[in-house]
Amino acid sequence: MSKTHYNPYASTNSEEDGGEQAMCGTYFSEDGNETNDKESVTCKKCLNKLEKIDKWKDETEEHILNDMESFVSFCNENIKTQENESI
Ligand SMILES: [Zn+2]
Repeated sequence: MSKTHYNPYASTNSEEDGGEQAMCGTYFSEDGNETNDKESVTCKKCLNKLEKIDKWKDETEEHILNDMESFVSFCNENIKTQENESI
């Protein structure tokens, strides 16, 4: 029987699922599935790790947001410097 693994980024379009490894570390068999619907997860490893995976996801998204903020302020600094130089 095929297992459904948890992936918060799982796409409903199966053609876009490029990974060969589930979030729990299991390699997909040919009939392996991923879902972002926790109710549909049947993989016990994923069920045990649901909270960890969600935490990881939140942390990753926080990092991306932080990086964007520092990137924006970095750009603003550069713009200021250029303005000062041109005066
Ligand atoms: Zn799994």
